[in-house]
Parts: sequence; C-alpha cells; structure tokens
Amino acid sequence: MTTFSELDLIEPLMRALNAENYTKPTPIQEQSIPYLLEGRDLLGVAQTGTGKTAAFVLPMLQRLSAKTEDGRPKSCHPRALILAPTRELAVQIGDSVRSYGQFMHIGSTNIFGGAPIGKQIRALERGVDIVVATPGRLIDLINQRKLFLDQVSIFVLDEADRMLDMGFVKDVKKIASLVNRKRQTLLFSATMPPEVGYLAEGLLSDPIRVEVAAQSTTAERVNQRIMFVEKGNKRDLLSDLMQNDEIVRALVFTRTKHGANKVATHLEHHKVSTGVIHGNKSQTARQNALNNFKKGKHRVLVATDIAARGIDVDGVTHVINFDLPNLPENYVHRIGRTARAGAAGEAISFCDHEERAYLFDIEKATRQKISVDIDHDFHEPSIANAGIKTAKAAKAKMDRENLEKQKARQQQRRKKWTSKSKTGNKNPTSGKPNYSGNRSSEQGKGGIAKTSSGAGKGFRPTKQSNARRNNRSSA
Ligand code: AMP
Repeated sequence: MTTFSELDLIEPLMRALNAENYTKPTPIQEQSIPYLLEGRDLLGVAQTGTGKTAAFVLPMLQRLSAKTEDGRPKSCHPRALILAPTRELAVQIGDSVRSYGQFMHIGSTNIFGGAPIGKQIRALERGVDIVVATPGRLIDLINQRKLFLDQVSIFVLDEADRMLDMGFVKDVKKIASLVNRKRQTLLFSATMPPEVGYLAEGLLSDPIRVEVAAQSTTAERVNQRIMFVEKGNKRDLLSDLMQNDEIVRALVFTRTKHGANKVATHLEHHKVSTGVIHGNKSQTARQNALNNFKKGKHRVLVATDIAARGIDVDGVTHVINFDLPNLPENYVHRIGRTARAGAAGEAISFCDHEERAYLFDIEKATRQKISVDIDHDFHEPSIANAGIKTAKAAKAKMDRENLEKQKARQQQRRKKWTSKSKTGNKNPTSGKPNYSGNRSSEQGKGGIAKTSSGAGKGFRPTKQSNARRNNRSSA
C-alpha cells in the first residue's frame, strides 16, 4: 500500500492531509495522483465516498502552485475550473479545495445559481485560481463577460452522468469549447452509460482510465435489506423503524418533493427531529437543513435524489429508501451516502406492489440479491411473492399514472404561461414570455429557466429517457 509521501506531494499538501487526519491514500487517490501530477487526462469511474475529490484537488493544487511565479491570477480569468451538477456538490468541493489548500496561496470561489451574483462577480474580479461551478450560473457569467475560460489549464467535470441526466449536455459542451485547448481534462462519473462515453471521447485526450468500483456495483460495506410493505403503510413502518436507537443519523429518500414534505411532517409528529431538502426549498433552507443534519440537530434528513446529490455527511448510519428509485444507478448513488470513508452503514428499502419491478431492475444491475426483512409489523408476502409479470404490470400502471399526472402538470403550466404572457410577463431581453420549467424549479429559486434536455426537435423519447424525465419532474 502506497503512502501519501510516496505520491510526491508537496509539503503544504502533506500538512493539510495531516490536519485532515488522512493516514493513507484511498485506491482512487493512489491510482490517479501520480498521473495527474504529470498532467495526464483522466477518465475516472468512481462513486462519491471513494475519496475522488481529493484525488483531483490535490494534484490540481500542486500543479497550480508550481506555476504561480507570474503572480496572482488575472481578474475574471481563473486557471482551473471544476464543474459539478448541483450546488450542494459544488459547495462541498469548494470546501475540500479550501481545506486541502489551507497552507497554500491558491484562491478559489464557488459559482452557482440561487446565490447573489454580485458577490460572485466581485470574487472573480479580484482574481481567483480555481472556480467550482454549476453550469447554469457559469454560462450566465460568461455571457455577461464577467468570466473568461481561456486561461483555464485544468478542467474537471465531476459526476458527468448526473450532469447529463439533468439535461446539462449542451451547457457542458459549450463550456468545454471555451476552455483553453491546451489543458488537462478530468472526467469523473459514477456510472458509464454510452452518453458519458461519447462525451469523454470528445473531451479527453489519451486519458488514463481509473475505475474503483465496477459499473453499478453497490458500495461493498453497505448492509442492504428490503422491506415489502403496502404503500399506505410506509409512513407507519418508518416511524416504527425510528424507534430503533441504532439509527443515529438517517437519510430518507422519497421520489417526490411533495412526498418528502409528507414524510417529514409525519416524523416530526412522531417526535423525530427531521429536516427536508428538495428543489422547491431555497438555497438557504437547503443549506440550513444540511447543517442541522451534519451537526446532529436533526436525526433524519428527508431528500429527493437530485437535491441529495453531493451530500457528504460523515456518520450517516442508515439510508432509507422510502420509495425505491426507478433507475438502478440512483439506488447506487443513494446507498453510497452511508458507509463513507471506511465506516459501516446500512441501507433499508421499502418496496410496495408498484415498485416490485424496480427491485428486479436494481438486483439485475447490481448483480446482487438484496436480503428480505420479514421481521416487521407491515410485511406483505404478496409483494414478496409477486412474479416478474405481475410486477411489470403494476409498474406499467404506475408509469401510465405518472405520465397522466405529468401531462396534467404540463397543461396547468401552459395555462399559467399563457395567462402570464397575456399579462405581459416577458423576458426583458428576448421579449418572449418567461417559462418556468422543471429544471429551474429543481435548481431552486434564482436558477436559470430552461426546457429539459429532450424537448428539442427530433427528440424521440426512449424508455430510459422517459424514466429520467419522470424522475426530474417530481424530484
Ligand atoms: P469523496 O468521494 O471525495 O466525496 O470523499 C468521501 C469522504 O472521504 C470525504 O468525507 C473525505 O473527507 C474522505 N476522505 C477522502 N480521502 C480520504 C483519505 N485518504 N483518508 C480518509 N478519508 C478520506
């Protein structure tokens, strides 16, 4: 096993690692750092929780520090760019950059929607080395000519699969086209669907490939179990579970924002201190909920998939899937929130009739049979015994219902939109009526309104993209 000192890291970084109490590199750090220090491009297949942030931030800081003889970075011209799909992840990476660089003179700033733009502009004008950003606000600042990417010599794309899921592909390509061609590019993704492969092909040059967990394999140390339960009994099952003191800090996932609120209210009613985090919450509310959870003020944090992206809280003892996700990769992401940095963790998933088919998909993708817990008051054997055919029929029914609901929502939105445009609520620059799409609502207040990815001409929805869209609209 390699030690950090064998990785040729400079003294200020070694001191920071000491301060962080990191004794040895994680496998992804061991495999990436030597190549990244040489300036190689990298394609990293790694889930969050593997230590991938330090794997790219440490060599980035070292390489940037070697090139600082010419003084401070030029105003509005950062030297490195890290792109992340969500604000939460951007904040977390920004924190890591500051901790690992605490003994160095490397400036960094975070750029994301839902926060005052003036402060971000001022930080850029003062000159920073590293920008950690989400795509929407970054493009906004580029369009305002407050940010130029021609001096960026290290470009990192983190959680590329999620970035594409969220409809950022065009933005990412635009951003990449503006970054200096003579650069080092790193792309990290938890899974490697073909779309990410194509993106990587276009962006990376002769990359080294580092893979620390096989595609869609679930975190090894997570002890997983499934509870079959009628939909109407899920909340009672959850409050029953919470009587167990071993559940010290639990992250509960729901499929919809509305569902998240209902679960939180139910838990509060049962005297379980609970926070909620989803796309309808303001940035401040999300950050407060997260801080309260981190500090242990809240025993439970209820979250939707997109909002929970990038949450890095040590000591999450349990991940509870109140609703099973319809995409197996989301299951993998979710349970990866526990058992972080070497700790053990447990994932408990509730599964009702309609979700039985999701469970089949998850077990197929993870190549693992999840053990069934029948030792609870709400166990429903008919769900456990449902064959694949019944499960698929129930799932098809749910998909139809979801589609209907989505159509109704779209119609409602269109109505609102038409009445707004009649009352003159128009975009000052385009003269077109303002459209408030799903993505903007998930990005929270102040996010940039955009239609979702597949809405353009010639888009033929596939089963997968339908599932993704369903996911996005309600998460
Ligand atoms: P990441 O995959 O980057 O989100 O990191 C997951 C967690 O692992 C974070 O809480 C890091 O602080 C922690 N971590 C990263 N590298 C190490 C290391 N070498 N030793 C111990 N903990 C680490």
